[in-house]
Amino acid sequence: MKLMISLGIILGMMTYTSALPIQNSSVIQEMKRLKRGNSEVLRGPEEINAMDRILRTNGRLGSSRARGLSFREGDIASSYHIQSRSAITCPGNSCLWPKSVDGSVYVPYIISPQYDDMDRITIEMGMLDILLETCVKFVPRSHETNFLDIQPRFGCWSFLGMTEGPQPISLQSPGCMWSGIVSHELMHALGFVHEQSRSDRDRHVSIIWENIRKGQKHNFKKYQTNNLNTVYDYGSIMHYGRYAFSEDGSPTIIPKPDPNTPIGQRDGPSVLDIQKINLLYECGGLV
Ligand SMILES: [Zn+2]
Repeated sequence: MKLMISLGIILGMMTYTSALPIQNSSVIQEMKRLKRGNSEVLRGPEEINAMDRILRTNGRLGSSRARGLSFREGDIASSYHIQSRSAITCPGNSCLWPKSVDGSVYVPYIISPQYDDMDRITIEMGMLDILLETCVKFVPRSHETNFLDIQPRFGCWSFLGMTEGPQPISLQSPGCMWSGIVSHELMHALGFVHEQSRSDRDRHVSIIWENIRKGQKHNFKKYQTNNLNTVYDYGSIMHYGRYAFSEDGSPTIIPKPDPNTPIGQRDGPSVLDIQKINLLYECGGLV
């Protein structure tokens, strides 16, 4: 019923808009915004992947610039003092967490006391999905200098790789409280970028530039990534959704050759995501 009313409003606005002078851009922008919102309703919740929800939660993240942070691709943070570093590729693996003599990669963390028990469980589930199948071990911090400081700030975001010192990861509650979103942000902290930023992405997906919202094309850059000789992973927890940064609900990413290949998901790291963590951190027998 709600959907019918919303569609009625949109159709009404379309009729209304067509009778207006074209320069009434605020009505057109509002119409596009409503259409964008309803296209998510029409797709149904089962198709909203982790990145879709991150982008929705982070809607007004740009205003965080005032607090000394900037964001690229919707949820990768940089602070001004480390922006000179080419964080996207981590040259020479400079942003990897160090490996211990026992072969494990210990990543200390603290979780803000502001979270309730359910939130803590969700965060720990996101950690478990990685640590059970890789040599990366998230451990409560005791005295370590470098550690993840998980906090319910505004939005879902992380820095890329280890930045040294206390390193915030924001997981707003409830907007970021899916274990798949937790593992997505943890993978950024381990040094992984979004799957469709890979250097070889144009062989696997088409970016529909004309459907991207004004001012957002920079979120679709490719980077010289280390692809670890793994195949392109449409099912990566790090993949944008089909409609990411869409102007009006039309697709911005179409897989090829089969445009109907599902992209992204919400459950947690894919088999290939786990394989990539094991390769990047040289987890030996787990590869
Ligand atoms: Zn991300």
